[in-house]
Amino acid sequence: MITPLLGTSFIGYSRSTSTEICGHGIQPGSGTRLEPAYLAASADEVAQTMALAAAAFPVFSNLPGKTRATFLRSIAKEIESVVEDIVERGQLETALPEPRLRGETARTCGQLRMFADLIEEGSWVDARIEHAQPDRAPLPKPDLRSMLRPLGPVAVFCASNFPLAYSVAGGDSASALASGCPVIVIAHASHPGVAEIVASAVIRAARATGMPEGVFSVLYGGGRKVGQAVVQHPVTQAVGFTGSRAGGTALMESAAKRAQPIPVYAEMSSINPVVLLPDALDRGEEALAEAFFGSLTLGVGQFCTNPGLVFLPSDRGDTFLTRLQSRIEAAAPGTMLNAAICQAFADSTDAVAATPGVSTLARAQPGGPGQGSPAVFVTTVCDFLAHPELQHEMFGPATLIVRGSIEEITAALESMEGQLTASLHASEAELTAHSTLINALQQRAGRLIFNGFPTGVEVCSSMVHGGPFPSTSDGRSTSVGTMAIFRFTRAIAWQAFPDAALPLELQEANPLAIRRLVDGQPCA
Ligand code: NAP
Repeated sequence: MITPLLGTSFIGYSRSTSTEICGHGIQPGSGTRLEPAYLAASADEVAQTMALAAAAFPVFSNLPGKTRATFLRSIAKEIESVVEDIVERGQLETALPEPRLRGETARTCGQLRMFADLIEEGSWVDARIEHAQPDRAPLPKPDLRSMLRPLGPVAVFCASNFPLAYSVAGGDSASALASGCPVIVIAHASHPGVAEIVASAVIRAARATGMPEGVFSVLYGGGRKVGQAVVQHPVTQAVGFTGSRAGGTALMESAAKRAQPIPVYAEMSSINPVVLLPDALDRGEEALAEAFFGSLTLGVGQFCTNPGLVFLPSDRGDTFLTRLQSRIEAAAPGTMLNAAICQAFADSTDAVAATPGVSTLARAQPGGPGQGSPAVFVTTVCDFLAHPELQHEMFGPATLIVRGSIEEITAALESMEGQLTASLHASEAELTAHSTLINALQQRAGRLIFNGFPTGVEVCSSMVHGGPFPSTSDGRSTSVGTMAIFRFTRAIAWQAFPDAALPLELQEANPLAIRRLVDGQPCA
């Protein structure tokens, strides 16, 4: 391990000195406590962090996009230089296998470089220019120019289930930094060591590229104490979160109660319905069951896109169920990310199994401490509608199969809460024939998948990883892909300003050569 682990927070370019222990990394399964102890940031240290972020904002937000891009690329390089540390510590803290940790590190660095490309090119600011018309009757028109500008310091809560891609230097941090916002990260108790390794890499990059102190801080001490203090601090201007519905809604409430309410972009619970229509079943129920089993059990089911609900026509699909049952019964239990997630999985599957009208189709053998066993339950649309609690997330490798006629399935979809994804297995003719069902999916999900499964989120400019509440707190946004940058911005218009006083993006000569909308016409 080349990164020394000190157990202290990163307050800008300093390390915290408080001595209150808030926890250790814990090896899932064995429960072994890992060294060092992690120390909670004190109230004074939170205040220092916020003061540094406030001071960094005007400097950082006014740096040219190319300079911020250099910072993002440097973070990616620094993270790559400690990938062996990440893999070593990550396996101990999360039980995630080495290939997953390497893959997630690569994805994290890829995201940083994607945002670097975006801000280096510069057109993302959506610059719009309307020239003055002093002679317009009955009233003259003033010169008006607008573009997106960063909001200010952003609080980012790390996710338990993505120690890299949705944590210290994950998508929320990358998009906030790209937009020009300083970031204050609240480390997750599940992987404090990985957080320290990545935070050290980010700070090295910030120093090497001459970023203002306070552009990036990482605090230990948990979300409920330190995280809440950051969210309620007047300097904070937005929040990025991935975790439970209870945690996300608590933050939405805190943010709304501030003297100045701020936006919270929380990704919470989603059960990602999969609809199987007759033509898809006719193409091969066994192959469909195999592919579904792979998606359900990937990563011990601990993905926000895990397919936790399947709608199956009641007059079809017996072979699908038989194959799925045999795969589940023979499946191995897997070690889950932490003891709390494992317990929550056991509790939620027991609750579904005990719901009137639900039968257990298959459950794998119980595992050892910290392990979750795949499970499949079956019910009817009628019982699903009678028990709204069956829409609650079972965070792990479990799914509920709901059977009914296509009309009943459509009615059930129309009763559902917002989802990150909805998957439809069908023929093109069925797409046309069942437009009401397709509309119901479209109303409720951020991403519609045709003849595929929801796990695996491509990082690219057209990805939408968001959806109506409660899948996220604000269905107008995405936390993955280049559109994620817009969450941390607001549009500002300049009226009748002298050219030299305008941001370069809006100056008449277009010195950055970006794409703009000039008098209603796209111009390069
Ligand atoms: P969590 O309990 O919501 O915790 C995530 C972060 O939020 C932690 O830093 C936590 O801090 C903080 N937090 C929780 N409640 C808070 C509150 N009232 N005020 C301020 N901060 C708060 O989520 P988790 O530990 O990652 O996993 C628990 C469950 O969440 C899982 O079993 C699963 O059901 C769900 N989950 C869903 C997704 C998804 O993408 N759908 C992803 C991960 C987890 P503390 O350490 O102080 O609690």
